[in-house]
Amino acid sequence: MPQPLAVVGISELVTLSGPPRARTGAEMGDLAIMRNGVLLVRDGRIEATGTRAEIESRITAEYEVIDAGGRVVLPGFVDAHTHTVFAGTRVDEFERRARGETYEQIAAAGGGIRSTVRKTRAASEDELFEAARARLKWFLRNGTTTIEIKSGYGLSLADELKMLRVIRHLNESGSLRTVPTFLGAHEIPDEFRGDRDGYERLIVNEMLPALTREKLACYCDTFCEPKIFPVESARRILTAARHAGLGLRIHADQLSRSGAVELASELRTATADHLEQTDSAGIETLLRGGVQPVLLPASAHTLGSKRFPPAREMIDRGLAVVLATDFNPGSSPTPSMPFVLSLASTQMHITPAQAITAATINAAYSLDLADSLGSLEPGKLADFAIHDCSDYREIAYHAGVEPAARVFIAGREVYSRS
Ligand SMILES: [Zn+2]
Repeated sequence: MPQPLAVVGISELVTLSGPPRARTGAEMGDLAIMRNGVLLVRDGRIEATGTRAEIESRITAEYEVIDAGGRVVLPGFVDAHTHTVFAGTRVDEFERRARGETYEQIAAAGGGIRSTVRKTRAASEDELFEAARARLKWFLRNGTTTIEIKSGYGLSLADELKMLRVIRHLNESGSLRTVPTFLGAHEIPDEFRGDRDGYERLIVNEMLPALTREKLACYCDTFCEPKIFPVESARRILTAARHAGLGLRIHADQLSRSGAVELASELRTATADHLEQTDSAGIETLLRGGVQPVLLPASAHTLGSKRFPPAREMIDRGLAVVLATDFNPGSSPTPSMPFVLSLASTQMHITPAQAITAATINAAYSLDLADSLGSLEPGKLADFAIHDCSDYREIAYHAGVEPAARVFIAGREVYSRS
């Protein structure tokens, strides 16, 4: 076991300690900050937090002392919605959109998700792993220590299993923690154009049994849109996934108000993600189903949309809002949670404190990991970052700066800028 750590000289120790449940309403603005704080770590877990005056006498010679130098310490961000495993980029489409084409026009012409599927199918498992491992560093440099990763660029039995094995391999590689989600219902692959039922049968009868045999996924997600996987189809896929023992997530109300939120509530999915088109009735529906909204403002931003989800109303009405990057090669090529926090404040008008709650403890609840992650409380895993600022609000304010100076996972330093 590594030496115990005492992190001292912390201007703001942002603990997010609080009730053992996802935070709602006014709780989302309370970060439980300790000024001039000290963090003790033993055996990879938080041993104690407190002010220097309270804790100093406990720092014996056995501790390695780390001086934060008057900077902020935050729990590692938990990014609950990413598509980090893929081959190639879509930078050509980025330029075409800059010239005026829309995402839908590019997709209809064979671009979009299907172009990434072609490249991902052509890549070997090792190639996908190396490309994704390089991207994990981008997350670390922004203070993120856990990411959910979806499959969904394979869309055949062999290629979906290949993606999920890469995600498992990434988790074992000693960098970030990763949580695998099966997203076979991301798009209809080229060979099933005009035969959605046939592709649905492949998902339900072949993919789900194979990936559960290998225990390759914790969750199943579905891109629920009328022209892709309409509500009836999403219900069949998600119900089969539940019977296979998977938790449920759903891409809902991104492009249209299609009934996906009602389905999420009916199935009591863990999350409904995107929600750019969700209205007040939809918010009420999510509340009834106990569904956590996962908001992805970087994708609305990247697509040049002015339509962001109604985050403030969701918080006011009592939903346990989550923020995530949606990192993917098409609609959100940013791995930066600080940039997402900035967009949350500038475009959705929620405060930096509410945004940090959404990106840490609430995100951990959405992945059923809050027993061990999402806040700095005794007994939890010591996943945290020292950020280069003395006021936590600067993390959202200086958008574009990679604020993390040192990042720790289970008390072990995994990234240092110097
Ligand atoms: Zn997504």
